[in-house]
Amino acid sequence: MADQKTIKRKTFECSGKLKQVMADHFLELDRASQSGDSKIAWCSSVGPAELLRGMGFLVYYPENHGAMLGASRMAADVIPYANAEGYSPDICSYLTSDIGAFLQEKTPLTKAYNISAVPRPDVLVFNTNQCRDVKDWFAWYSRHFNVPLVGVHTYREIGEIGYDQIKEIAKQIEDLIPDLEAAGGAKFDMDRFKEAVGLSKKTSQLWRACLETASAVPSPWTFFDATIHMAPAVVARGTQAGVDYYEILLKELKGRIKGGIAAIEGEKHRLYWEGMPIWGKLRALSEQLSGLKACVVASTYCNTWIYEQLDSAKPFESMAQAYTELFIVRDEAYKEQYIQECHDLYQFDGIIFHDAKTCPNNSNNRYGMPERLRGNTGVPALIINGDLNDLRCYSEEQTKTNIEAFIEQLEEGMV
Ligand code: SF4
Repeated sequence: MADQKTIKRKTFECSGKLKQVMADHFLELDRASQSGDSKIAWCSSVGPAELLRGMGFLVYYPENHGAMLGASRMAADVIPYANAEGYSPDICSYLTSDIGAFLQEKTPLTKAYNISAVPRPDVLVFNTNQCRDVKDWFAWYSRHFNVPLVGVHTYREIGEIGYDQIKEIAKQIEDLIPDLEAAGGAKFDMDRFKEAVGLSKKTSQLWRACLETASAVPSPWTFFDATIHMAPAVVARGTQAGVDYYEILLKELKGRIKGGIAAIEGEKHRLYWEGMPIWGKLRALSEQLSGLKACVVASTYCNTWIYEQLDSAKPFESMAQAYTELFIVRDEAYKEQYIQECHDLYQFDGIIFHDAKTCPNNSNNRYGMPERLRGNTGVPALIINGDLNDLRCYSEEQTKTNIEAFIEQLEEGMV
């Protein structure tokens, strides 16, 4: 029987700084929304943020708000209001919880920052590289606010990405400029754009370095820590604030390694998390796995916000490359190879696949990948059925039992 004590997560000294970066982000947006002094673009999380920054927009990310609705467990109460508008309970629960919350005039920003409502958009900008849901989601707000919806349509399920494909996506990004100028953005300024691309690249490099500290044994942090600390990699990319934050976090992580400080005392098992976080259950899962001496050292999800292809010398092309070479855009063969390379680096002995009911795009267990990975690497997998936000799709007791059994089997070398 695995030793299952409840162990609290170790706190980070830079947590205060993280809170400040996020507060600055939302309060600046709120001020602009009320005063109209700056234009606001809503952007999908892996959308063309650098171009928007380069054109002087403040950038708001509805998926980040969706994750807050999940983490604060407001989602389940508000999803039915989006369902009543015809948005199915089977589609993205970020979408349904975000629209449901808007209809109910609720937001977790109120409790966190005393902000009464999400900022009003001047333009909505998507990239379908991750899914079609972001476009449909933004289309609802476009109709509601009567503001333009523009975006990039990306190829999906690709293995090798050809130069012609990159060129075509780069052109789509460049072609956004007239619409963005018309929506109130500053006149396009190549230098400002290049600066945003350069800052985003720096943020990515630092974020990767932070994530890779988890290759140390024992690991200085876990996937559950990283899901919290990744917020600036999403919302502050393309800004100096993002760069500054990850310099501080990296220093702290390196200090932990140097001082032999493990995220989980007596780390016995190292795991990989494949798929979306279950936002409303991060703490419970983190504490259960800690109690079992199992550290989730790496994940596809947190790795998503690494865009090292960005290059300010060729901003459009490198953005196209960065946002098309993403894991989520690629075919099964690429994804398997990617996880195998992660295995080489992080040396995990098990994989947890989260099959998220409302996000097939980030549920990679459905076409035999766990079995093939086991054949190629010998690493066993556990599949958890759940959801990113809709906890009605998640059985806590069942998951708890399955995780415990999986760790026991790892200990006994039975899987
Ligand atoms: S990738 Fe999944 S979680 Fe993200 S917006 Fe699309 S459907 Fe929602």
